[in-house]
Amino acid sequence: MDIDSASPSPTRVDAVVVGAGAAGIYQLHRLREQGLRTRVFEAGDDIGGTWFWNRYPGARCDIESLSYSYSFSPELDQEWVWSEKYATQPEILRYLHHVADRFDLRKDITLRTRVTRAVYDEESRHWEVSTDTGERVIARFVVMAAGCSSTPKDPGVPGAASFAGDTYQTARWPREDVDFAGRRVAVIGTGSSGVQIIPEIAKRAAELTVFQRTAAFTLPARNRPIDAAELAEHKARYPWFRTEQRRSKGGSVVEMPTVSALEVSEEERTAAYESAWQAGLLSAMLRSYTDLLVDERANETAAEFIRAKIRATVADQETAERLSPRGFAFGTKRPCLDTDYYATFNEPHVRLVDLGRTPIEEITAKGVRTSEREWPVDAIVFATGFDSFTGSLTAVDIVGKDGARLRDRWAAGPRSYLGLMSAGFPNLFTVTGPLSPSVLTNMMVSIEQHVEWITDCVTYLREQGVAEIDTTPEAEEEWGAHVAELAAGTLYPTAASWYTGANVPGKARVFMAYVGGLDRYRARCAAVAEEGYEGFVLSGRTGAADGAGGVTAAGPVRP
Ligand code: NAP
Repeated sequence: MDIDSASPSPTRVDAVVVGAGAAGIYQLHRLREQGLRTRVFEAGDDIGGTWFWNRYPGARCDIESLSYSYSFSPELDQEWVWSEKYATQPEILRYLHHVADRFDLRKDITLRTRVTRAVYDEESRHWEVSTDTGERVIARFVVMAAGCSSTPKDPGVPGAASFAGDTYQTARWPREDVDFAGRRVAVIGTGSSGVQIIPEIAKRAAELTVFQRTAAFTLPARNRPIDAAELAEHKARYPWFRTEQRRSKGGSVVEMPTVSALEVSEEERTAAYESAWQAGLLSAMLRSYTDLLVDERANETAAEFIRAKIRATVADQETAERLSPRGFAFGTKRPCLDTDYYATFNEPHVRLVDLGRTPIEEITAKGVRTSEREWPVDAIVFATGFDSFTGSLTAVDIVGKDGARLRDRWAAGPRSYLGLMSAGFPNLFTVTGPLSPSVLTNMMVSIEQHVEWITDCVTYLREQGVAEIDTTPEAEEEWGAHVAELAAGTLYPTAASWYTGANVPGKARVFMAYVGGLDRYRARCAAVAEEGYEGFVLSGRTGAADGAGGVTAAGPVRP
């Protein structure tokens, strides 16, 4: 084992959880309930993960608040009051703080501490976890709850350091208010973060120039306050609603389509799309018909409906055309929800620069220079996205059996069984890891499913006195092929998106989410556990020090 003898001696716990976002704090709660001494390390100076870091103006969830919340505690459901259909970032952060306080979680969370390294000792079957504050912790289990989109990608625009004005990144927004009043502001990037911040900056800035590389499909959120009667009615049916969420394909309670978009008349289709457009729900549009994500012709009917809405909203038809997404199918890059995004381009002080025609060449001291001209600005906002799925995992130097590094093993794309564990990295679980349903679902529901499965697995191992769980290259191979095969039956892999790693130069192109649905995935995970952790290898015996105490294993346990 690679131990730095100069640093203080390590402390011992049962489990280390990396990250104190929605996944990490729930994992802590569950492991502690099972009696595991658990430490959580969080790089930020507060809990909240995504909802701590992405505090830019306009940041809010695009899944309804009544649905995007934990289901594990009926009492929590009843006591928490959501104020809007789509909660703002501060409200979601307050909710996560409430959860942490209510379940007394903070005492086991160490803030301002980034896990830098985790090394597996094959002899003792423990991980040694190191942090950037010099702490070392020895634990039987490590749970990576570091988030799917939490490592901002390098915007990759040359000259950024030479800019004389202020630069901001949506994913690392400062805590203090940023006042854009009277300033000339550039926003680079028009994904979910860009479409949320652009209308907000437009309200204050003297001039706003939006640099768009790829136009996004975005639908009106139709956000609104939730009144007391609606909240009471929803709370009364929460038990039913939570069960339905858990049974659902995407973690939201939506009516599933039964017909193809190509089987109905144009009038009927337009009426269905109009109703989805008015609903202000991404899932309503995506699930209008059975084949929007599998058939290009079907998809084009929805895409063209949205383009017609853009033309009807944006007064200048040349700008409308540039804002109209083309070249990829609706839904294959994550669609967005917005408030007044397209209408913002009717404002006289807002303009759009189409980087498809005039790419950015560099950032200068004065502003942004495209192939056409220099655009002088006082501030630049990067809304340029993340190294998603793998970035937060490969950022940690994870060293498994035989000295293998996770980041090397994953150089050609992530390898994982069920998106839960990678062969050769035993006792190390990923919450909503690559090749699981994760970002194609309501993340809260996927997080709960993973955390509960991991907790049950760890509990089983401890009860059986088993020291180690690993998976095999064969199980990984089979799962990877299954995930790829399902994805190949859809339009998803046809787009150059962050789902495939295409947004990060040099990253392997692999479709990284399981498209088969959370319902099917949940059933498979449950069956694997019921069959004695099929596809996993259980080995070694624990001593009394592990709190397990020599119970005979039921399944096949290797020495
Ligand atoms: P994103 O979807 O990856 O969008 C990044 C944008 O920046 C894209 O328009 C991209 O263009 C552009 N870009 C990247 N590098 C560039 C460069 N060098 N020059 C010019 N343009 C560049 O990232 P995001 O908007 O932060 O959203 C990421 C995900 O987080 C979302 O898809 C969603 O899952 C989640 N999110 C959710 C919410 C919500 O719930 N409301 C809010 C924010 C984020 P290309 O498309 O051409 O690469």
